[in-house]
Amino acid sequence: MKAADYDLVIIGSGPAGLTAAIYAARARLNVLVLEKVAPGGQILVTDWIENFPGFPEGISGADLVMKMTEQVRRFGVEIETNEVLSLDFSEDMKKLTLNDRTISTKTVIIATGASPRKLGIPGEEDFFGKGVSACATCDAPFYRDKVVAAVGGGDTAVQESIYLTRFVKKVYLIHRRNELRATRILQERAFANDKIEIVWDSVPTSVNGSIFGVESISIKNVKTDEASDLSVDGCFIWVGISPNTGFIKDALEVDKSGFIVANAKMETSVPGVYAAGDVRNTPLRQVATAVGDSAIAAFEAANYIENL
Ligand code: NAP
Repeated sequence: MKAADYDLVIIGSGPAGLTAAIYAARARLNVLVLEKVAPGGQILVTDWIENFPGFPEGISGADLVMKMTEQVRRFGVEIETNEVLSLDFSEDMKKLTLNDRTISTKTVIIATGASPRKLGIPGEEDFFGKGVSACATCDAPFYRDKVVAAVGGGDTAVQESIYLTRFVKKVYLIHRRNELRATRILQERAFANDKIEIVWDSVPTSVNGSIFGVESISIKNVKTDEASDLSVDGCFIWVGISPNTGFIKDALEVDKSGFIVANAKMETSVPGVYAAGDVRNTPLRQVATAVGDSAIAAFEAANYIENL
């Protein structure tokens, strides 16, 4: 094989990408980490993480990212802000087209995570950033003593609704079924919180407002078909995530939801290319699982290079 620019390129610098960087640096690989915006990924906007071992009181997402980034830098790994536009895996030496150049590498770990999904209802796009949000840590302070809607029944919707109650007067948590998907401890906290009113069996049909911002959300009861409006000043949408895989196109096998198919060694359909963290088809999306995936991916990348 011709000399490659890098042994390993890691795409993404959330907990998965940063962990892969630590393991790769310690394996003495010539590694580059690429990040489109800023290190951290989704946990950067996670208020409090209390299920990552080692932090008995919990830790804010931003602090955890800072610590992980410091650890990566201590091992001398470069984190470059740049976007991967396309991938060429047709030869053993993989090529990545970035904003400003094309680079070559022996192995790749894709750790680009996922982004909040949208509902696709009228008003959602128009009011995005003007009353519609997917980030409580960013926007909750704008709704001090106001009434907001939160849509979804998973861990994100429930955890972030609880966080919102530190600021707002009331949260209508709108869920399409009569049972939450979120983990039990979060459900218990939501049920015990006087500021959260759960609107069961309902889906939003539009977000309504004026030049002054969001004024109400229209909902429909899926069992009775009854339509109604809730007066709210803001609307948070947490209905799941989509993988950040737009640049992959058909370079790799993905599942029907677009998550990268990878086995227990994090190997994808292309030898020498690994996927780790939320972007992978995994049964559990946590910081702990992202970190575990990446340790394996970096270990396997080093083995692959050894055997070239
Ligand atoms: P999720 O677990 O996929 O939950 C999405 C929620 O939105 C579900 O309750 C779903 O309803 C609802 N939903 C989906 N599409 C909808 C639609 N079109 N209209 C109305 N409701 C809709 O997503 P998530 O909560 O963002 O979590 C993503 C991953 O991150 C999960 O693996 C989660 O465990 C993890 N996470 C963990 C933590 C933590 O450990 N503290 C915190 C945040 C996220 P149904 O229930 O009816 O499907």
